[in-house]
Amino acid sequence: MDAIITIDVERLYPGAEKGTYQFLSLLHNSGIKGTFFITGDVISNCPEIVNQIVKAGHEIASHGFSHPGHPDNFQLPYLMDLDLDEAREEIRRSKQVFRQYGYNARGFRAPGFRIKKEFLNIVGQYFEYDSSIVNSFFPGDKYKRLPRVPSKIGNVLEIPVSNLNLCRIPLGTPYFLTPGPVWLIKLLKWLGTTNPIILYFHCFDLVGLNNQALPHSRFKKKWYFEKCGPENIYFFESLFSFLLERGIRFRTCQEISEDLKEA
Ligand SMILES: [Zn+2]
Repeated sequence: MDAIITIDVERLYPGAEKGTYQFLSLLHNSGIKGTFFITGDVISNCPEIVNQIVKAGHEIASHGFSHPGHPDNFQLPYLMDLDLDEAREEIRRSKQVFRQYGYNARGFRAPGFRIKKEFLNIVGQYFEYDSSIVNSFFPGDKYKRLPRVPSKIGNVLEIPVSNLNLCRIPLGTPYFLTPGPVWLIKLLKWLGTTNPIILYFHCFDLVGLNNQALPHSRFKKKWYFEKCGPENIYFFESLFSFLLERGIRFRTCQEISEDLKEA
C-alpha cells in the first residue's frame, strides 16, 4: 500500500511560514517525501520557502495563483466561480510563475478543492495531473460520480484526495484535528480507505491562529482554525508512525503519475 502526504501552502497567515518549515522537519524526521501544493503568490512573495522545500527533496506543484478565503482576500471568487477564459488564465498563470523561478510544476490542485469538471480539461493542457477532487458524501458534493482512485479523466490524470470507506469523510486535517490522531487511526483501521491513501494538510496546521481575526464562520473557527497550533506535532507524529509501522510506502503525486504512465 502507498500513501501520499500533500501539504497546501497558500496565502500565508502570520507565522505560517514557520509552519511550513516545521512540516519540513517533521517529514525529515520520519524520512517521508511529500507533495507541496503552493500558490503563485507564495512563490512570488516567499521564494525561499519553495527553495527549501525543493532542497529537502519534496515535489512542488501548483495550488492556483491566488487563494480566496483568507483574511485579506476573503471575497475573491474561487476557480469554480470563474468563467472559462478567466479560469484558463488563472491556471496558466499558476504554471507560469513556477517557470519564472526555474521550476516545472507537474500537478495542480484548485484552491478549496473547488473546480468544475469542465475545467479539468484546461488543467490537462498545462499539467500532467490534477488533485482537486474530494469525492465525499457531503450534501452538494459534485464529485460523487468521479473515481476515488487515480484515474484518467479526459486529458488529465486525476489523483483525488482519499476518504474513509462507507462514510466518505475526506482524509484531511480540517476533519481530524479536533478528534485527534487516535480517532483518525481507529477509523482507518475500522473502515479502511483507497490505495494509494492521499492525505492533505495545511501549512498553518502547526501555527496558533487563535489570536488572529479570521473571517470564517464560528463553526469553522471552532472546529478547525482554533485547533491549529504547534501541539499538533503529536497528531502528525502518531499518524506517520502508524502508517510507517504498517509498512506503507510513501510516494509523491509525481511518482504515482510516473507509475501509471509506465503501467
Ligand atoms: Zn488551499
